[in-house]
Amino acid sequence: MQPDTIENGYFVFTLMPSLYCHLNCPHCYLSVAERRDRTMLSPGLIEEACRKIDAYWNGRGIEKRTVVCYWYGGEPTSMGIPAFRDLVERIYVEMTTRSASVPAGRRTEYFPGTGIGTILPHVSSNSLSGLLEAVAAAPYNGEADLPVIASSLHMEIDELFPVAETLQMLRFAEVAGGDIRLTTEGRQFADFDTDRRKHLFARHLLTYVALAAHIRRVLDERPVHQAPWSRFADELEDYMPPAAAVQTLRTIIALGRYAEIFSYDDEKQVFSLDNP
Ligand code: SF4
Repeated sequence: MQPDTIENGYFVFTLMPSLYCHLNCPHCYLSVAERRDRTMLSPGLIEEACRKIDAYWNGRGIEKRTVVCYWYGGEPTSMGIPAFRDLVERIYVEMTTRSASVPAGRRTEYFPGTGIGTILPHVSSNSLSGLLEAVAAAPYNGEADLPVIASSLHMEIDELFPVAETLQMLRFAEVAGGDIRLTTEGRQFADFDTDRRKHLFARHLLTYVALAAHIRRVLDERPVHQAPWSRFADELEDYMPPAAAVQTLRTIIALGRYAEIFSYDDEKQVFSLDNP
């Protein structure tokens, strides 16, 4: 039996992407300063490490490969579920895709809906809050048949469906069998005043839409807290056609503005944290 070594196609990938943790376990081996430090390893460096391992095995003609990931922290999900999923997905993509089989500009998203490669439909915050309010109100009281509510809102079902799907992605609603049912948070949103709505929406946008969390993280990390449109457009085009990248960025700008998690200057084409 062969030993479990990298030369035999077995690799233990030990990752410590961030020490950040908001908890205070008495047995913790990290100092408080280390746990409050939000510095995070660049996803690009993790991808590069994966490619180097792959190149090593490709060079030696090793076909059977086993990679075991150990994820150390900080509490591993303290940087947010979207960031965690994004990194897991990047590792998965790099370690399971043969470079020759991936056409340029078409990286595969292995967990649809969870990574930054999700194409976002053209929806506005008004359409999202309008549907939430309508489903929450009588006679639906939180659950409605989509064609019926589309008709009552004077919308076509194919106009309404992307709105309902986006509410589902944000965990404000569940869509199944042609019905839409609000979650507890969806009902809360409908009941809240404007400020509390924005606060709740921001939390869900950053938690459940990886691209929103990614943009916010890049802005937080940059000293000037700014990044051009091209910074994200180029990245999205690795996953989707250019037109879909434009639509996705336009949608995230609209939702990010409403949530006040970042701002975007249309003239300068720059994202920033100025007056979000
Ligand atoms: S890093 Fe782990 S042990 Fe330390 S406080 Fe966070 S959860 Fe507790």
